Amino acid sequence: MSSLVVAIDGPSGSGKSSTSRGVAARLGLRYLDTGAMFRAVTRWMLSHGVDLTDPDAIAARSGEPVIVSGTDPPDPTIPVDGRDASFAIRSDEVNAAVSPVSAVPAVRARLLELQRDIIGKGGIVVEGRDIGSVVAPDAALKLYLSADPEARAVRRAAEAGGDVAATQESLRARDRIDSGRVTAPLTMADGAVHIDTTPYTPDEVISQVVALVEAVSGDGE
Ligand code: C5P
Repeated sequence: MSSLVVAIDGPSGSGKSSTSRGVAARLGLRYLDTGAMFRAVTRWMLSHGVDLTDPDAIAARSGEPVIVSGTDPPDPTIPVDGRDASFAIRSDEVNAAVSPVSAVPAVRARLLELQRDIIGKGGIVVEGRDIGSVVAPDAALKLYLSADPEARAVRRAAEAGGDVAATQESLRARDRIDSGRVTAPLTMADGAVHIDTTPYTPDEVISQVVALVEAVSGDGE
């Protein structure tokens, strides 16, 4: 398992984070939350007064934030310019701005380099939108998680607090941009296993994925 890469893609609220962290923890693998990296860049742009309606302005400063991604499944820290941003990257302001920032090719190119550096020789579960298609197309196991829109909104509202209808609208707006962008859109990668997580508990999905990982790595035979 030490060189294994597991790629987990899907929209927000599909169960990606709980699954990725749970699988990594159970199998003793590292964990990378690439969404947190895009959120960290967005947070930095907001706090530096960059005009987020201007892709050129975002691109011009995309090399500046210093982002370090922790890979410990129970505690994936994300310092930005040396200061922990774990809470700040989950704000409503970041939720509203992250998809347009993530659509800027210069931002994606910068983070792709960091992501591939961290993935390195493997032993990692990586979650995002373009992991199986762009970041790690040779991953041993690629998964695409989905869930009914209402179930996704209920899960996200329970995690972050807030109104289910407003959360559903915010998720819909992000899905539209993430799936429609030109560079590395959210997509089901070739060869990905699709799991609709709607009827399952987080533990049930983790168990299904652990079984799939063991099957591809030979440990479950
Ligand atoms: O996964 P999470 O909801 O935290 O991701 C936040 C946003 O980051 C997504 O809506 C998407 O715009 C962007 N993202 C991306 N590519 C990834 C991971 C996240 O564009 N690999």
